[in-house]
Amino acid sequence: MNFLCPNCGSKKSLSKHSIGKNFNEGPYINVKFEIQCAYCFMDIPSSLSENIEINKIDEVRSLWIDKYKPVHLKQAVKCSKCNRKYWEIEKFLFERQISIKDIFYQTFNQNKKIGDLICKICDPKAFK
Ligand SMILES: [Zn+2]
Ligand SMILES: [Zn+2]
Repeated sequence: MNFLCPNCGSKKSLSKHSIGKNFNEGPYINVKFEIQCAYCFMDIPSSLSENIEINKIDEVRSLWIDKYKPVHLKQAVKCSKCNRKYWEIEKFLFERQISIKDIFYQTFNQNKKIGDLICKICDPKAFK
């Protein structure tokens, strides 16, 4: 697989995985797989990052920035305490050689369906 990140230009990827959410509208409606970039840690639709022809690179980058990235930013899982988004947390931990396997835990919240997420940066002791 030939990976090129339209977000940061990195050629290194971490993993390819099925997209976790179902979208009923918007650019993500046809996205089946995402590939996580090993540099910016964002999950990028495989259609925008895998085996992109050289003459399509600029087009794909504009698509990512104008159409997909705003949705990705809005949907991103983030820490309720520090508001860092998952890729910011993973990059932070990775640079300090801390495992990025589990980065959140959930707290109980009566008023919401899902509890608040607290990240490993805010509460490292909870992950030991
Ligand atoms: Zn990247
Ligand atoms: Zn946090």
